[in-house]
Amino acid sequence: MAKISINLATGSFQKEEIIVGIDLGTTNSLVAFINPDKDPQVINDAGKGILVPSVVYFNNQNEAIVGNEAKEFLTTDPANTIFSVKRLLGRSYKDVAEHKDIFSYKIIDDDSDALVKIQAGNRFYTPIELSAEILKELKARAEHALKTPVNRAVITVPAYFNDSQRQATRDAGKLAGLDVMRIVNEPTAASLAYGIGLDPTQQKTIAVYDLGGGTFDVSILQIQNGIFEVLATNGNTYLGGDDFDRSILNYWLEKNNLDVNVVAQDNILMQTLRLQAEAAKKALSTQNLYNEQVGEIWCTIDKQTFEQLIAVKVEETITACKNALKDAGLTASDIDEVILVGGSTRTPFVKQAVENFFGKKPQDNINPDEVVALGAAIQADVLAGNRSDILLLDVTPLSLGIETMGGLMDVIIARNSKVPTKAGRQYTTSIDGQVNMKISVYQGERDLVKENRKLAEFDLKGIPAMPAGLPKVDINFLLNADGILTVQAIELRSGVKQEIEITPSYGLSDDTVEKMLMDSITHAKSDVAQRMLIEARSEGEQLVYTAEGFIKKHAEHLTETEVAETVAHIEALKNALSSLEKDIILKKADELNEFTRPFAERVMDAAIYTAMKGKKIE
Ligand code: ADP
Ligand code: MG
Repeated sequence: MAKISINLATGSFQKEEIIVGIDLGTTNSLVAFINPDKDPQVINDAGKGILVPSVVYFNNQNEAIVGNEAKEFLTTDPANTIFSVKRLLGRSYKDVAEHKDIFSYKIIDDDSDALVKIQAGNRFYTPIELSAEILKELKARAEHALKTPVNRAVITVPAYFNDSQRQATRDAGKLAGLDVMRIVNEPTAASLAYGIGLDPTQQKTIAVYDLGGGTFDVSILQIQNGIFEVLATNGNTYLGGDDFDRSILNYWLEKNNLDVNVVAQDNILMQTLRLQAEAAKKALSTQNLYNEQVGEIWCTIDKQTFEQLIAVKVEETITACKNALKDAGLTASDIDEVILVGGSTRTPFVKQAVENFFGKKPQDNINPDEVVALGAAIQADVLAGNRSDILLLDVTPLSLGIETMGGLMDVIIARNSKVPTKAGRQYTTSIDGQVNMKISVYQGERDLVKENRKLAEFDLKGIPAMPAGLPKVDINFLLNADGILTVQAIELRSGVKQEIEITPSYGLSDDTVEKMLMDSITHAKSDVAQRMLIEARSEGEQLVYTAEGFIKKHAEHLTETEVAETVAHIEALKNALSSLEKDIILKKADELNEFTRPFAERVMDAAIYTAMKGKKIE
């Protein structure tokens, strides 16, 4: 079915709606599309530049400012300037606690497995909302430059992203008003940009070396019949070009006899020097000497010194390449092509190290900080059906998932996943001694299950009585090539198991699918807002439940005042729960958490932590 749409800006007919490709990066993000000459092209909106720094600043009115403009507030208002949000996407505080020093803004520490939240001004944001701000900016730039509405996108993620990080990326797209056609691995997109994998008869093994601003990863991919399989990934999510900048900065401080700790007091000077160091690094990609002055400070460095400074870091990336090959069961000579991705691969020393290790010249004709977005645009073009030469594999038209607390849809197999496919996730109980768990399976794109299509329901019975949060229930979805879905639930501690079979496509017409998709786009914003409120309330209710239980059980470890104050905090949270304000609930929950943490540590009771683990099913 061909769609015809009218370009509102030009009044002309447009045959196909454009689907853009988006590289949502840790340091920089950008958007690309397939131009009328059928070539992928990055979008540069009215000379604003191609790269949008992945930085979000919130001003006094809680308005979000994104990109270069936001970056300027890194020194003047660091508490409200959010960078590197990709590191937090789909992660819990526990996941990132070890590295919390690199963040200059407040990450809410509720010491649980719940997803992190960030405070800026008097509001709380999830990494999904923050990433959505970046995506909105990209969408707006694309619409402005292309003079047409942009509603559909392919978004890339690192190959090592887990299910929860991918889902978070999808949600961010949705919140930005984008229908996310597919989540594609960054190394896959980079290969597509080089035309690798477009020919279904081609069979190749490739290595993609990606050194960005703050992260490094290497992926070994096998391409066969147009299918990309990730054989291995390796890397370090806290190693990148920023480290190179820091080495130069430290070198200058030393050469100028300046004490790091003293200079560090002066935020503005520090930032100026850091930017100067980055400029020096970039300059040394094409010249042998950099020589500037910042006030009294000499900022001089030659290429050879720079290379000595970064040698250890670069060697670390090569070790990761070795490990990736080993995990894939391959040697360097098995690799047909090496592809360079990420701005930091512009450094000739890095390029040379990669070439030496793999024993062949890496592909570097395409701009390394654009290659992923360009590949995403190609993937989008394939999905739009504009490339008849490429086979499109069978995909599920609608997402499949289960109901979690508060009536939320938790997607297990996302729409557009290739079949056959399997996916699973772990859940837990919300009430002490809960022995049954109702599992309801739904299909659809809306955030609330009541708006989706119910496929089946069954009870997992005979879970041994345990405190809330302790049972580990694995729910696995297996969708076979014939479109039959097997849902299996198993409680891991006891081995209790239950399984059913469903045919999700039964009674589902194309019109229904289309209507369900349209509805999800129309209601995307209100859906996500509702979901966040429900999540905040579920978390808050659970906290009240555990805190009350804790006080009852451990009153003897607390003084009377401590008990009274905890009760007051609980009451404040209860009041907040009856409001419909997500931010107030999160704030009160945070306060209760902060207040009770020392007691929990005192009592050394693991239960209060474990009770808050994982998603709960009522
Ligand atoms: P990410 O994928 O993490 O968002 P990018 O691929 O955009 O990051 O890479 C950003 C990094 O690339 C920064 O550290 C930047 O300083 C570095 N970079 C950009 N241009 C050059 C250059 N010409 N030489 C060396 N490094 C560069
Ligand atoms: Mg990148």
